[in-house]
Amino acid sequence: MVHLKNDKEIDRLRASADLVGRTLGEVASHIAPGVTTNELDKIAEEYIRDHGAEPAFKGYRVGSLVFPATLCTSVNDQVVHGIPTNEPLKEGDILSADCGVIMDGFYGDSAYTFAIGHISDDTRALLTTTYESLMLAIGQATTGKRLGDIGAAVQNHCEARGYGVVKDLVGHGIGRNLHEDPQVPNFGRPGSGRKLKTGLTMCIEPMINRGTASIRTEGDGWTVKTSDALPSAHYEHMIAVRPGEADILTTFRYIEEALDELPYEQTFTQTHG
Ligand code: MG
Ligand code: MG
Repeated sequence: MVHLKNDKEIDRLRASADLVGRTLGEVASHIAPGVTTNELDKIAEEYIRDHGAEPAFKGYRVGSLVFPATLCTSVNDQVVHGIPTNEPLKEGDILSADCGVIMDGFYGDSAYTFAIGHISDDTRALLTTTYESLMLAIGQATTGKRLGDIGAAVQNHCEARGYGVVKDLVGHGIGRNLHEDPQVPNFGRPGSGRKLKTGLTMCIEPMINRGTASIRTEGDGWTVKTSDALPSAHYEHMIAVRPGEADILTTFRYIEEALDELPYEQTFTQTHG
């Protein structure tokens, strides 16, 4: 069942979403070659608890599996749901950091793929295209459009560049639950699927692979990797459907301030008007 939110509920979701953005900004300020994802995870957990919230992923259960960390940290060919480790990040790696919080009963959820030091042009193009596909999808998340419009925006942009669009994992509604209806696929046909209503709040999160769309899950039951070991990128925003223009509840502003590099948003505007 889809729960549409009123403005008051959306403001509370925005507060949780903002804390996720700030947490990822804090993480971003510590990212460098030699740092471990366990260290980043501790920084995120402390930051969230210091701000009156709790990590949403730590203790999250799927059947008998319990996720052990605050962040999902997915490096290189790991697509999503990676578990933090004591392995130092290396120059040229990419890291998808996915963060969730619950504050005052409302969830926030956002992800960003970071470059560790200098990365190859191929990998940079993967990151840029994935980010662009997220923003194109958000452009479709307006009252009266359909879920298929969102999925098609991601799929067309990424497949035209030869990338694999992960289809076994999807975005989701969000609110008083981390995962609500509807599922939000990163593929689809324009004009098909559920019609979007004002007040629908959801996470749009393209997971895009350099090579094949095919994925597999590691023996830990969580970590999802590409089948061909080529890298994968992942960006996630939480939005509320509105007439004319979606309301983006999460923000990458704090990350981009911490990174001191040209924000993708700016690059995107320059490229696509
Ligand atoms: Mg997420
Ligand atoms: Mg999500």
